[in-house]
Amino acid sequence: MFLSFLIIFNLNLLASSVSDKYNAERMSYLRAVLDNNTALEKKHLENIISYGEKLGYNTTKYKNELKKLSLKNKEKFNKIKKQSIQKDKLEKEYAKKDSISQKIDLKNSIQKVYTQKNMIIIDFNKHITKKDIDYNIDKTKYFNLYLFDINGFFKDAGPTKLSILGIDKIFIIQKDKKTLHIKVRDKNRLKPIYIINNKRIIIKFLNIKISDKKEQKQIATKIIQEDYKRKIVVIDAGHGGKDAGAVGPHKRYEKHVVLAIAKYLYHHLKNRGYKAYITRKTDKFIKVRNRTVLANKLNADIFISIHANSIAKSKANKIKGVETFFLSPARSARAKRVAAKENSSDIRSMSLATKKSFLTVLNQSKITASNKLAIDVQQNMLYQLKKHYRSIEDGGVREGPFWVLVGAQMPSILIEVGYISHPMESRRLYNKRYQKILAEGIANGVDSYFLKNP
Ligand SMILES: [Zn+2]
Repeated sequence: MFLSFLIIFNLNLLASSVSDKYNAERMSYLRAVLDNNTALEKKHLENIISYGEKLGYNTTKYKNELKKLSLKNKEKFNKIKKQSIQKDKLEKEYAKKDSISQKIDLKNSIQKVYTQKNMIIIDFNKHITKKDIDYNIDKTKYFNLYLFDINGFFKDAGPTKLSILGIDKIFIIQKDKKTLHIKVRDKNRLKPIYIINNKRIIIKFLNIKISDKKEQKQIATKIIQEDYKRKIVVIDAGHGGKDAGAVGPHKRYEKHVVLAIAKYLYHHLKNRGYKAYITRKTDKFIKVRNRTVLANKLNADIFISIHANSIAKSKANKIKGVETFFLSPARSARAKRVAAKENSSDIRSMSLATKKSFLTVLNQSKITASNKLAIDVQQNMLYQLKKHYRSIEDGGVREGPFWVLVGAQMPSILIEVGYISHPMESRRLYNKRYQKILAEGIANGVDSYFLKNP
């Protein structure tokens, strides 16, 4: 009697602890699903099934999920395998091309020599260093002679008509098989500087006095930057017209905030030499699918869509911060929430199948470039804001399925410049100084991206 009681008691104890574990596993499984963590999903599903069977529950539902998951993993694995095979193939092809071009390089290491503004530009087929250039100056009574000996062969060297304002003569001669000689005769006694940038030498003639090396370096950096800044940037001011976007306290509208910031960004980029364009300069409605049309037509280098975030009133006082998104099929709960808000009604009506097919054609190199752009912009935006304001929150770089970015054929990002629902942040977002600083930060991010990815 006593013994059987003990056994029953123990069984009960066991039963209650297994059922606790079973419930705990179900909660963990749910969390893993929300986090999109398939490894954890699998682990918790297995535990649910094992505990469920001990408890005599029906676990068919979970077994089916597990089957689906392993099938998904298998597909994923096959996809990755296929991608790596393709990558290998591509690399081999490149290696083959490289060896061919190296053969050509031995003959013609210099691709082009040309003038632009007050510069002589020499483009090589290979990376070059300081050792590849030897510079001398010869001062005569009537003029200066600048003499450059450059390692390399240029097949079109010969008498040249190249001319630069203020300089009377430029001679480009292939001195021997290995040396290109450039001689510049200058009556105005300008200051020549030369800059080596990857596969390029830029010789620039300045009509100013340069006092020290530091200044010379600054000028050199600026010249290199100028070179990138013929890049085309399309800025998209979110919402507009009948579509107000999110609305914050005191009827602060997202559409007004993002237009102001987009315009400041537009001017910043123009001033820095970019070819900048904007999807709207006034408060007008543009369909989401038409926003990228301009960017594609112009064959833009990057596309930046500007938005402001918002959250339900119950959390409005707590949630704020700057976030940058790039397009990917990722579906974290948070990305989903933001994407749902920004994906306007004309796209929402798109069938699920169409949406899916859009996302599957996403090209991996575009995703990677967009991710890089997002990181540079986010970092620079935060840095700039933190220099001038307190309690700036970093919402981080995130990925999500944004339809406005789907249509763009170039690296593209969506910036949530802050929460218009937050009392302080929305006040700041309406402030001109804050808008200007934010735009400057974005422009710095664009500079940084192109400096690293010319
Ligand atoms: Zn928006």
